[in-house]
Amino acid sequence: MESAAPPFLNPIAAAGEASGSRLSTEALARRAKQRRQIQGMIGVSYVIDAGILLIYAYAGTVPLWLGPVFGLCGLTLTGLVILLSETGFNERFKDHYMVAPQSIANMLVLIAFTCIAPKVGVLFLCSLFTVFSFASLRSTPRTVAVIWTAMALALAGLFLLTDKPVAMPHGDHIERFATMLVFALTVGRCMFLGIFSSALKQSLYESGLKLKEAYRRIEELAELDELTGSFNRRCIMRMLDEEIARFSRSGSPCSVALIDLDHFKRVNDTHGHPTGDEVLRTFAITMFANIRSIDRFGRYGGEEFLLILPDMANDGAIRALDRLRAIVAGLDWSAFSPGMKVTLSAGVATLRTGETTDSILARTDSALYAAKAQGRNRIARA
Ligand code: GH3
Ligand code: MG
Ligand code: MG
Repeated sequence: MESAAPPFLNPIAAAGEASGSRLSTEALARRAKQRRQIQGMIGVSYVIDAGILLIYAYAGTVPLWLGPVFGLCGLTLTGLVILLSETGFNERFKDHYMVAPQSIANMLVLIAFTCIAPKVGVLFLCSLFTVFSFASLRSTPRTVAVIWTAMALALAGLFLLTDKPVAMPHGDHIERFATMLVFALTVGRCMFLGIFSSALKQSLYESGLKLKEAYRRIEELAELDELTGSFNRRCIMRMLDEEIARFSRSGSPCSVALIDLDHFKRVNDTHGHPTGDEVLRTFAITMFANIRSIDRFGRYGGEEFLLILPDMANDGAIRALDRLRAIVAGLDWSAFSPGMKVTLSAGVATLRTGETTDSILARTDSALYAAKAQGRNRIARA
């Protein structure tokens, strides 16, 4: 919608701005521009109606001055609203379009001119219809209720308290032509409002989709480790808690492995930190490519990772980890830097009844320590 519709149809801007919260200069400028566009349309509408009044004047229905005076009144009112808008006065209000006061002011102008020239009342009353249809698109139900009440009172005053012969001229061809224009324009304006409202709906729908996608992305970023794309520590710890809860509920086995890359400091020192980063990334990709979809792999910190293996106990977990160890050790790391070798050690533990996150991590940690002590590039059972 951003590209297809004019900015004043853009509810993304409107949504964030409706609250009246602190706005950036850019947002304020955009709001002012939207108001200018709407006032421009209202001004053009007055000029068109003044033109039709000139046709009625040509037919002799109304005096010649009526059209220009009506146009002038409408443009003065619109100009005043633009002036207030440009000085930032409108920004004090939640309804920065000032729909209610402007609609009521427009209504007063139209009712006054219906009284002045009841013979062409149809034109003013049709314009009244457009004013309120437009206002209702930008109003809250409360504002609409206020505007409608004001309009009902004004119309009651016009029709019940005066005996003005509000009419629809159709005496000769010229009058009939002007009246036809009044109706054609009213229908045209209503259709424009229809387009306006469906564009608004479409725009809201599209911004809803964008928000959903942005929310999904934020959630994803909040869960992933930036460097390796594996789950971050917070997320993998939450997953471990969930697995422990599941184990205590269902008793289905679950193993946890604490994996640490061997002599990684040396990798950094010898080949440089950026190469170390690449190694971490490649290691994570390799892990993802070789674990089951139900397994959970996350960065515990630095070059230490947690692998949660649901539905896998003791020997199965040791075998799985040893297979991963062999795959990592067997990769051709010399592509990163000649002579490079990367291996891992891991401590594996299987959940026991009453086990907590701390206790299983302590057991995997001591098993890892044992694997390192036994010479690295190996898996140790807790
Ligand atoms: P050990 O076999 O005993 O585990 O030896 P090690 O050198 O791997 O031991 P240690 O845990 O002391 O060192 C880990 C190193 O990992 C130190 C740190 O610079 C490096 N490291 C941690 N996080 C990152 C990272 O994000 N990128 C890179 N390139 N290096 C990291
Ligand atoms: Mg290490
Ligand atoms: Mg370490």
